[in-house]
Amino acid sequence: MDDLQIATSRTWAEINLANLEHNFKILKSLLNPGAKFLAVCKADAYGHGVIACAKKLQACGADWIAVASVVEGVELRENGITLPILCLGQANPELASLMCEHEITQAVGDFENGKALSDYARLVGKKIKIHVKIDTGMSRTGFYWPESDSDKASTAAEIKNLCELPGLEAEGLFTHFAAADEDENFTRLQLKKFLDAKNTLAALGLAFKISHAAASVGVLNYPEAHLDIGRFGLVLYGYASTDTGNEGSTLGLKPVMKVKSKITAVRKLPTGTTISYGRTFTLKRDSVIAVLPIGYADGLPRVLSNEFSVKIHNSLCPILGRICMDMCMADVTDLEGVKPGDVATIFDEDLIPLAAKNSGTIIHEIVCSPSPRVPRVFIE
Ligand SMILES: *Cc1c(COP(=O)(O)O)cnc(C)c1O
Repeated sequence: MDDLQIATSRTWAEINLANLEHNFKILKSLLNPGAKFLAVCKADAYGHGVIACAKKLQACGADWIAVASVVEGVELRENGITLPILCLGQANPELASLMCEHEITQAVGDFENGKALSDYARLVGKKIKIHVKIDTGMSRTGFYWPESDSDKASTAAEIKNLCELPGLEAEGLFTHFAAADEDENFTRLQLKKFLDAKNTLAALGLAFKISHAAASVGVLNYPEAHLDIGRFGLVLYGYASTDTGNEGSTLGLKPVMKVKSKITAVRKLPTGTTISYGRTFTLKRDSVIAVLPIGYADGLPRVLSNEFSVKIHNSLCPILGRICMDMCMADVTDLEGVKPGDVATIFDEDLIPLAAKNSGTIIHEIVCSPSPRVPRVFIE
């Protein structure tokens, strides 16, 4: 039995690297000329398998890779990623040695944090590259950019002190939008604040080589926010909005992930039979159900019990009853000839947005949900 047979024996995520490349090319063509392409590969490349995806993106010509933690960056370095890597998460001074050793550029959002990195870098005689984060309205990390001129002056002075610390090389300045997909006024206000911060710092003699602001939807909707780098996350994986797949297909983006399961049993059960834990579904007719080897421990959210359908022989088949840890049941009564070993599609470009909608979340969370038990199978 070969590895592929084993990987596809139960439930797996099929990752189409040709689609990733296709999306990269489309998105690259939408960037202002001169702006660099940063591929966001945090969280195992949004659940797609980070090593293969980052290698593909590096081969395609991406300029930067971003991760959420230094440990994610180290994994990329150990697997042949030579592009600049930006760690977007708050700097963890405990990991300063790894930043130095693996040349990971670190986001810094407050003075104390940057000071701790500086102390380490100075001690070992190295430099850590940093991108200074400005909080323009996300209220997560970053220097809060205030309203009054006197407050601006003191924040700017603090940032200047940070950037002049020994052992640090302040390369970039950036911010992050809180509502690029839903609030145009607020997004424009954030961009205005960011440019104000940039200009205020420039007036103090602090010119950053690189500034950036926009993630996926920001790049698509606000060309004036491209600046020096566009940070592409969800769009790379084929979805142009957090809740529907439609905008992505208008741009010609192709979904990169499909999750598939091999039907383990097909059973005839009579009217009145209840299905699964808690008996939340009662058969209203003599039925045929397919048992699927995927459950919430594989990343099929349990809240989708009785609220989701999968595709079998290209038809939508409702999930009946509660989703268990390792299995769930689908109604195949109306389909001819379904048999054990047939492949069901659990997530694809239609079902991922449906799962997001019916579980009250966003597409980001659904693509991140397949667990480590689900092998990623890469196709070109
Ligand atoms: C996650 C993240 C991104 C990517 O967001 P998408 O909406 O998936 O494009 C970009 N920038 C920062 C700072 C992030 O944390």
